[in-house]
Amino acid sequence: MNFDPTDEQRRWRDLARDFAQGAILPRAVVLDREQMFPYDIIAEMARLGLMGLTLPEEYGGSGGDFVAYMLALEEISRADTSVGITMEAHISLGCAPLAAYGTTEQKDEFLRRCATGERLWAFGLTEEEAGTDAGGTRTTAELEGGEWVINGSKKWITNSGTDVTAGVTVIARTGTRENGRPELTALIVPQETSGYTRGPGYEKLGWRASDQHPLYFEDCRVPEEYMLGERGAGLRQFLRTLDGGRVAVAALSVGLAQACFDEAVARARERHQFGKAIGEFQAIQFKLADMAMEIELARNLVLKAAWLKDQGRPFSREASMAKVFASEAAKRAADQAVQIHGGEGFMEGSAVARYWRQVKINEIGEGTSEINRQIIAHSLLAESAEAAKAKMVAQ
Ligand SMILES: Cc1cc2nc3c(=O)[nH]c(=O)nc-3n(C[C@H](O)[C@H](O)[C@H](O)COP(=O)(O)OP(=O)(O)OC[C@H]3O[C@@H](n4cnc5c(N)ncnc54)[C@H](O)[C@@H]3O)c2cc1C
Repeated sequence: MNFDPTDEQRRWRDLARDFAQGAILPRAVVLDREQMFPYDIIAEMARLGLMGLTLPEEYGGSGGDFVAYMLALEEISRADTSVGITMEAHISLGCAPLAAYGTTEQKDEFLRRCATGERLWAFGLTEEEAGTDAGGTRTTAELEGGEWVINGSKKWITNSGTDVTAGVTVIARTGTRENGRPELTALIVPQETSGYTRGPGYEKLGWRASDQHPLYFEDCRVPEEYMLGERGAGLRQFLRTLDGGRVAVAALSVGLAQACFDEAVARARERHQFGKAIGEFQAIQFKLADMAMEIELARNLVLKAAWLKDQGRPFSREASMAKVFASEAAKRAADQAVQIHGGEGFMEGSAVARYWRQVKINEIGEGTSEINRQIIAHSLLAESAEAAKAKMVAQ
């Protein structure tokens, strides 16, 4: 077993770290306070190849592997999770399905302009009645004279309303199956399509410098050829997309946990009480040790799931494990980082107060902890305990 990153993976990690620490971290406070989408930062990340890290080179992407992407995303999120989620939602949710299921024509028309990251692409699954129950989609699409006519709405869709967004892939009900369940199909909707509009952005607890909007479709027409993948395969495609997204949100969580740890260690060294640095008290040392252990475990889970994905092996259960553990470890890290800062950590100006606000969404977005625990349990119960265990040990 080899835990060393390859030269290429190390190069992406170091590039992301240098850029994040030099160009993102110093602006994170203002971006969060002003809820400002950082166009210049995203443009520079696109120029560096970070916004298309895993996307195919033939369409302008960087052609990196998933492990490299996770290492880079951790570094970006360590500086600011708003920028991290913008990168993640663009690569994993927006572009990855275009690359995986698109026809050559669709990739030429849509992926080519987004694979560099100069333009962004969004992923529209969630609706008022379809949250965790992603199959509860109410948005409909009917074929009429060679066009899909879409009606309905979506909610909280990341990267859907920036000045550089090129479009969104949405899931819509295109019929009812014999067993009464909905037939769900993925459709490509370019940004300027008539009948497609977006509502105002949201006031959020975290990810405040990222972009989310409600989407509205009123007799919105796209050509029949804008169907992504097979008719009726939409939910399966989107759930597969979310597997990759979950590993990425886990990497984002590790980055945020690491940022909490960085601040906590600095404070433990600097703050003196009873005539010594608080880091000399065993109570504080144990908090730091627990944080470090959990971050190490979470990072290993992320990298293992990413490695499985790179090998083309099943990774769905590991993706859920990484997502649950990393997001919850990040929450504990943010909580302890505030505790180590005492009252200063409660002040809005302190970095750890911002981290404490930002960390919660990681347990919700791209599948809540509850649904991910169910995925893990179902995958274990669906096979014999021996087979499940053998898989876990061998994979
Ligand atoms: C900032 C932000 C950005 C987002 N970006 C996107 C995006 O780009 N694209 C997109 O499509 N969506 C996006 N989402 C939506 C996100 O994926 C959903 O919020 C998430 O899937 C949970 O759905 P929900 O919020 O409706 O919660 P609900 O489904 O209403 O769940 C509420 C609670 O009930 C629990 N629960 C529900 N069902 C079960 C069950 N069967 N068993 C046990 N517990 C259950 C949940 O775990 C949760 O604790 C975004 C959300 C936010 C807040």
